[in-house]
Amino acid sequence: MSEQRAQRHQHFETLAIHAGQEPDEATGAVVPPIYQVSTYKQDGVGGLRGGYEYSRSANPTRTALEENLAALDGGRRGLAFASGLAAEDCLLRTLLTPGDHVVIPDDAYGGTFRLFAKVAEGWGVQWSVADTSDPESVRAALRPRTKAIWVETPSNPLLGITDIAALAAVAREAGARLVVDNTFASPYLQQPLALGADVVVYSTTKYMGGHSDVVGGALVVADDALGEELAYHQNAMGAVAGPFDAWLVMRGIKTLAIRMDRHSANAARVAELLSAHPKVTQVYYPGLPQHPGHEIAAKQMRSFGGMVSFRVAGGEQAAVDVCDRAKLFILGESLGGVESLIEHPGRMTHASTAGSALEVPADLVRLSVGIESIDDLLADLTQALG
Ligand code: PLP
Repeated sequence: MSEQRAQRHQHFETLAIHAGQEPDEATGAVVPPIYQVSTYKQDGVGGLRGGYEYSRSANPTRTALEENLAALDGGRRGLAFASGLAAEDCLLRTLLTPGDHVVIPDDAYGGTFRLFAKVAEGWGVQWSVADTSDPESVRAALRPRTKAIWVETPSNPLLGITDIAALAAVAREAGARLVVDNTFASPYLQQPLALGADVVVYSTTKYMGGHSDVVGGALVVADDALGEELAYHQNAMGAVAGPFDAWLVMRGIKTLAIRMDRHSANAARVAELLSAHPKVTQVYYPGLPQHPGHEIAAKQMRSFGGMVSFRVAGGEQAAVDVCDRAKLFILGESLGGVESLIEHPGRMTHASTAGSALEVPADLVRLSVGIESIDDLLADLTQALG
């Protein structure tokens, strides 16, 4: 059986550890070495050994990560970037030209919104906002030049759920590509390409890296031609993952499955505690049966992930006070690391959405629930809520 065919029969946990990670030819090292190198000796002009010529175009450590990423999402090609936003920028400049239109979600990472509203718009890309949890809202937002429908599910920070298969059908009818930012779920919990999406986007800074020690991004695509086009742009624009960063993300991915199981289990307990707390007015967690997207999430996700948001009685200051009182939950931006984080999206990660259709409630607190002891996490939240 060929290497690729053998891999198709392997389960996620096995692929996470082995796909693209064959022992090093030269030494037998069992993990890909960090090829901290910019250029490669040629055997005569154009005589490349193993195809490597210059590390912006390709680097063996990055190749190992990119093969791993493609395998984990069941895609044809994976591409690793210097950040999630670098991946998004490469994708939007590959898919869209001036005058083209993209539908974006009414809840999304603030930086993604900023990229469309403040950067791409300046280059003539049109965008409009839809509630992507409702396929009819997306249909109504389509225009003749809609080339992409952009979805986050679960979304940041309100944990909205979009039915990926339903939107894939809408995209197909419209001749547009469906892009799914799968950062909150990770490929272990959700497989957008298998549900009909064309491109999966990641901030690998988050669950894939998993240890708050690297910034990175990735794209995984279902078809070879788009993969080629993106690889061309990745090299032409140059925001690639460096070898050490690629290696850190790869190391994180090896434990992704067990970390996500624990993140999900801890987050479910946190959501339960918050739901019963008198100072909490609303909890956003797709694992709660009363969450409007619960059934769809249960259908398309393995479990519900580690992100929980909630609103605090008493308004913005009360929410800020909860963030300030937390001790074990570290006050900081980002998410997806082993350590628990707390933040105030309105003043921190989502400040750029103020005044837009994506503005977040002022009394909102977002938690990235880590993999510490659940008892210690619940005790800290209880004291922080006062
Ligand atoms: N997508 C989502 C859902 C995010 O939460 C983030 C960052 O927080 C990004 C994309 C951007 O990724 P990066 O910060 O790695 O550029």
